[in-house]
Amino acid sequence: MYHHVKKLMYTVNVGTPDPAFGKMLLEQFGGANGELAAAMQYSIQAWNCEDAARKDLLLDIGTEELSHLEVVGALIRMHLKPMKTDRAAAEADPLVTIAGGGGVCLCNSAGTAWTADYLKVTGDLAVDLRSNIAAEARAKIVYDRLINFTEDVGTQETLQFLMTREITHMRSFAAALESMEKPAYSIGTIAPTPTLVDEYFNASTGEGDLGKDYVGPWNEGNGLHIVNSKRESGEGLTIKPYKPQPGTEKMSPHDSTPVGANVPPRPKAA
Ligand code: MN
Ligand code: MN
Repeated sequence: MYHHVKKLMYTVNVGTPDPAFGKMLLEQFGGANGELAAAMQYSIQAWNCEDAARKDLLLDIGTEELSHLEVVGALIRMHLKPMKTDRAAAEADPLVTIAGGGGVCLCNSAGTAWTADYLKVTGDLAVDLRSNIAAEARAKIVYDRLINFTEDVGTQETLQFLMTREITHMRSFAAALESMEKPAYSIGTIAPTPTLVDEYFNASTGEGDLGKDYVGPWNEGNGLHIVNSKRESGEGLTIKPYKPQPGTEKMSPHDSTPVGANVPPRPKAA
């Protein structure tokens, strides 16, 4: 159950309201990487989660994100306030002013309505945790950019608080994934095709105005090697048919119940 406490997670102070900046802040309210998206993504993942310990983690962070939404909403409301009475400020965004009354609306910075399509919820805990690590990185970079576009000290301090929490969350999600003790790149129940899985396909070739071919740890090393296309006189990817073998991927007792009619059960906890 949810219970609201009449206190912001972080006290918001705005020196000089800046309606244009308030509009940019809407990106973190109703945007793709905003606080509502984070709160809904983690909460819904939690409600699906069968692993009690990691469900607790998802509920903790999902609920904290809802508190962030409230803080960023308070900040936006203070910045938009001049729109209520000032004609020039109002003209900057008739949607926010005339339709929304100069308050927060569930839109991004361009006025596009929030959508559940922003959420990444697969029902597979290891996959969801990876999505969450990426979501926190996106939230961090958006706060970073916003901080770099305001001179208001109270606003900077509030955004610094919110930005920092995203890095904390990223660390928790990464540690939770690692604690599942799955081999790196182990997803689901079916092991990938041997040989093919190690082949880096050099699909962009030639030296031209778009650059040239580079060699790095992403294509030579870490078990990977470069394979050139047959149209470039290379050997091509290994396309020999390989029968999928459900149950061959290494699973964790913390994994979600595998989905499919013929999959073996996940291992039991030791
Ligand atoms: Mn947040
Ligand atoms: Mn977060």
